[in-house]
Amino acid sequence: MVLRFLTISDFRNICSVQIKPGVKFNLLYGLNGQGKTNVLEAIHLLGSPRSFRTSRLPELVKHGERQAQILGTVESGGIESRLRLLIETAGRKMEIDGKTVHKASELHGKLNSVVFSPDDTGMVKMGPESRRRYLDRAVYMGDINYLNCWHSYQRILKQRNHLLKSTDRTGLDIWTEKLSETGAEVIERRLRFIAVLDNKLQKYYATISGGNETSRISYQPDGVQAIKRDEIREELLELFKHHQRADERYGTTTAGPHRDDLSFILDARPLKAFGSQGQQKSFILALKMAEMDNLHEIFGEAPLLLLDDMSSELDAHRNSNLMEFLIAREIQVFITTTERSPALLNAAPQCAVCHIEGGNLTFEGSKSYE
Ligand code: ATP
Ligand code: MG
Repeated sequence: MVLRFLTISDFRNICSVQIKPGVKFNLLYGLNGQGKTNVLEAIHLLGSPRSFRTSRLPELVKHGERQAQILGTVESGGIESRLRLLIETAGRKMEIDGKTVHKASELHGKLNSVVFSPDDTGMVKMGPESRRRYLDRAVYMGDINYLNCWHSYQRILKQRNHLLKSTDRTGLDIWTEKLSETGAEVIERRLRFIAVLDNKLQKYYATISGGNETSRISYQPDGVQAIKRDEIREELLELFKHHQRADERYGTTTAGPHRDDLSFILDARPLKAFGSQGQQKSFILALKMAEMDNLHEIFGEAPLLLLDDMSSELDAHRNSNLMEFLIAREIQVFITTTERSPALLNAAPQCAVCHIEGGNLTFEGSKSYE
């Protein structure tokens, strides 16, 4: 996939920006707080139902303005599509080639992007919600049905929790069964995704680090050993029954897929407790590369790669391993740094360079293959 044109208006600190990105590397450099991440966020938002930074729409609209607009022309499979996203405080509206998009599934796969930002590395140390958020978003990217089943699960969970809080608990068993049924689908889809990712992770960790540590990602849902949906449903039902007394006492569903976590393991030890900062960064980057590879296989084309704040991410050795990997592939990459990185420019055979200051973008030229 290639983003051919991009226009951003009144989005965060960006008043008006128009770019014609390079097909390979794009370097956006500028000082802190100038709008680099905002540009990546805009690109990502154009193809996904949610921002990787916030779920609050009003934050995205430039202070003092009523609406933000992002326009992009994407080339995929030799066909160009025009994507238009309007964001207002009250909601968002999406159009593809002038037609309003009514369901998230219509947008699915139109502009795939994988983001790697310092916040992602943070999820190693943070609480399970951040890893669950990552998991849910990543599964959805390659699995069009995931969003629906995840929403159904959330809806049923809300109903069940509502009953648990009330004095009349008539119908609780029915909601528990429904929750097991949908929960089993959520778990089955997550397990399938993690199995694929786990398979690819090792290779990419070795690519980045140049070392031979073993890296694993695992998803072990609470109370569930099975991998087939029917059996998962039975086990979930057992889990919910087992926790029913506690659920009634606390007025909420205390166990289930909404409480699950991911484990990151390096050399058979939890990355969280034993991994150095560089190892954590490399691990998450390898995870993103595995994700990219998975999306490439599913859609037959590589997604865009958005690498935020590369200046602070990796050492020179790992950076050059990463560049080597990217150069060898047909991937459109957007990289942000605080300085006009000469190392990166030397490594990249083809790169468009933009400077960003106070939300204004200046195209400084393009380096092409000799
Ligand atoms: P860093 O190098 O520190 O990561 P950056 O260039 O990535 O910086 P961004 O996060 O892209 O910076 O932009 C941050 C700027 O955008 C801040 O100055 C912030 O105040 C501004 N900003 C964020 N949301 C809005 C908004 N809705 N309206 C106007 N300005 C906003
Ligand atoms: Mg930033």
